[in-house]
Amino acid sequence: MFGGHSAVPVSTPSRRAVFSVLGASVVAGLTACTAAQSSTPALTPSGAAGSHEAPGPNGALAVGGEVPTSSASPTLTPSPTPTPTATKRIRRTFIPDYQLPPIIGGLAPVITKIETKHPVVFLTIDDGNIKTPESIKLLAEYDYPSSLFLTRDTIADNPAFFNAFKAQGSLIENHTVTHNINMVRQWGYQQQLNDIVGMQEYALQHYGRRPTLFRPPGGAYSSVMRQAVADAGMKAIVTWEAKANAGKMDYQVGNSLRPGDIVLMHFRAEFAADLAAFRAAQLAAGLEVVLLEDFLGVA
Ligand SMILES: [Zn+2]
Repeated sequence: MFGGHSAVPVSTPSRRAVFSVLGASVVAGLTACTAAQSSTPALTPSGAAGSHEAPGPNGALAVGGEVPTSSASPTLTPSPTPTPTATKRIRRTFIPDYQLPPIIGGLAPVITKIETKHPVVFLTIDDGNIKTPESIKLLAEYDYPSSLFLTRDTIADNPAFFNAFKAQGSLIENHTVTHNINMVRQWGYQQQLNDIVGMQEYALQHYGRRPTLFRPPGGAYSSVMRQAVADAGMKAIVTWEAKANAGKMDYQVGNSLRPGDIVLMHFRAEFAADLAAFRAAQLAAGLEVVLLEDFLGVA
């Protein structure tokens, strides 16, 4: 919000007067906003604006007459679609404290959790078997941007169904063509690569973007798979340490969500119950759902 005001000259006496009245908190807010924008230009500033204590500064500025459009400033955020939630992937900007490991020796890195001090959690939803309007409605209601690891053979009957999640700010990622949970043991490099590349092409064709992240069917991976994932053009293999399953949370570590956890769930019949379990855990832990790709810089 304040970023949008940067074009307004700040050297006018009345502006300075307003600032002196408002005191340090406004200056701090401006500084944080500016810093966030300069360090992460691709992220929307809308969340940063929303986190300000709006009534004081905005009211004072409006009264001063310097920024007559301040009440309409949220519309300054670029919006790719008219959907209200489309710009709300990252609601606040974060100073990065995690670096995605690079591809070394031709092998894609494997991520099970993001080591971060920021109060964030990442929701990932797999396969795509059960396609209900309820799942679209719930994710919109909670405003959860999610990474959707979809399998071509499970979505081929209705790929357009997932466009609604795209419009909400979620991204489609790669979960192979056939979902062979034994692919690591049964297949060599070329067969794995074919099953991975096939989904890359399918996703590009139907959703207009090449996936950057890969989730192995069943979660098993190997060096051969890591090589195939890198060769297919993706940045990382993403597994998990927590999942919402059968209407409850399962943790591989501890008994609650932690900052940086990657949570697995599925498009299953029990979607609503699983999402309710996740939401309860997310709220209890005081974590914000942000898009993994945004946090990693691979959106
Ligand atoms: Zn799966």
